[in-house]
Amino acid sequence: TDEVLKYNGNANKKLNIAVVGGGLVGSLEALYLAKRGHQVKLYEYREDIRNTPLARGRSINLALSIRGRRALKDVGLEDQMINQHGIPMRARMIHRPDSSTYAMPYDARTNQCIYSVGRNYLNSILLKESENLDNVERYFNHKLIKSNFKDGSLTFMKMDTKETIQVNADLIIGADGAFSTVRKEMMKQPLFNFSQQYIEHGYLELCIPAGKDGGFQMPPNYLHIWPRGNFMMIALPNQDCSWTVTLFMPFKNFKNIDSERKLMDFFTNYFQDAIPLIGEKKLIEDFFSGSPSALVAIKCRPYHVCDKALLIGDAAHAVVPFYGQGMNAGFEDCTELDKLFQKYNDDVTSVLEEFTNTRWRDAFAISDLAMYNYIEMRDLVTRPSYRLRKTVDDF
Ligand code: FAD
Repeated sequence: TDEVLKYNGNANKKLNIAVVGGGLVGSLEALYLAKRGHQVKLYEYREDIRNTPLARGRSINLALSIRGRRALKDVGLEDQMINQHGIPMRARMIHRPDSSTYAMPYDARTNQCIYSVGRNYLNSILLKESENLDNVERYFNHKLIKSNFKDGSLTFMKMDTKETIQVNADLIIGADGAFSTVRKEMMKQPLFNFSQQYIEHGYLELCIPAGKDGGFQMPPNYLHIWPRGNFMMIALPNQDCSWTVTLFMPFKNFKNIDSERKLMDFFTNYFQDAIPLIGEKKLIEDFFSGSPSALVAIKCRPYHVCDKALLIGDAAHAVVPFYGQGMNAGFEDCTELDKLFQKYNDDVTSVLEEFTNTRWRDAFAISDLAMYNYIEMRDLVTRPSYRLRKTVDDF
């Protein structure tokens, strides 16, 4: 249905559901479940994101695509997110080494585009929306330390007092990210398959501030890319007219840049046009005040245990960020799950079984596409298509 979901107090059986992880996917899933009439308890390890500045090392903004929009529409937040906050990115803007640029539209035919959205803002509106529903309770500073899929019990440590508490749920949903504690418990189950792959490239976030006039220093409706073969830099626009700039590069290259001179030589050689935009002083400060973060892809299967536990979002399928689809795929998990709750009239056993049996194909596919798209973005995007096949084969 294209309709916004209405509160469904008449769901077949009201379940007491614990959603572990109040990040993007967990807080969206809490809304979907609550709108079906279930009793939801949302447990988040960190403080309420609305009261804390964003920790460095997690992307500040993200590209929201049609998958994510669909989910936001279902819970009535698409308009607020897209029209009041999202910045449309209609094309890639490629920056050549000689500082010249050219645009590559994402969809010249129907004019579809992706949107740059703030992680904090999106997470905040999802949490805020849950406050409008009586059947969602939020518990921040609660870190899951143990779970039991036989009786549905969960043990949390309260981060402020270090006290441990035990609660019970009919269903445990693990939306606790790439290093999921719920998944660790699942790994003890027979026939649970799991793989993780770290790539040899890391990423570091830098920033192009707003211009002196308070406006954008680059044309805003683009995802800017500086493809440089084995590494690349990208920039996504923010609401305050700044840009979040992300440098993706092999860890060994990051390590070699160990002095201000080497950093400035590197930028002069490869990203000359970005130096005045970031500002030399700020570039040096930001580069040396952080360290590059790792990127991991995780695949696992099945996603559930009996009628007691389920993994969604990065907990089920963390992907490298080069396709801009990690959050979008996690949001789509919530949409697909809701369709199954509807199809099976909230019969959890059937819902979880079908989710596992069907969802993994798309999750594995997006993971492989994301791995491939790194080569596309940092290198192939600059080459004529007849050379592509050979380059991919060589990789
Ligand atoms: P998370 O965002 O990791 O949230 C998990 C939550 O669980 C956290 O709040 C955490 O504190 C909590 N938690 C963890 N352990 C526990 C515990 N034991 N107890 C209780 N709570 C716990 N995706 C896109 O779609 N588009 C993009 O453009 C994009 N860009 C990206 C750029 C970068 C550099 C990176 C690294 C990722 C990017 N992604 C993007 C991917 C996106 O960030 C993730 O897919 C998304 O954050 C997954 O959401 P999640 O809620 O599943 O996990």
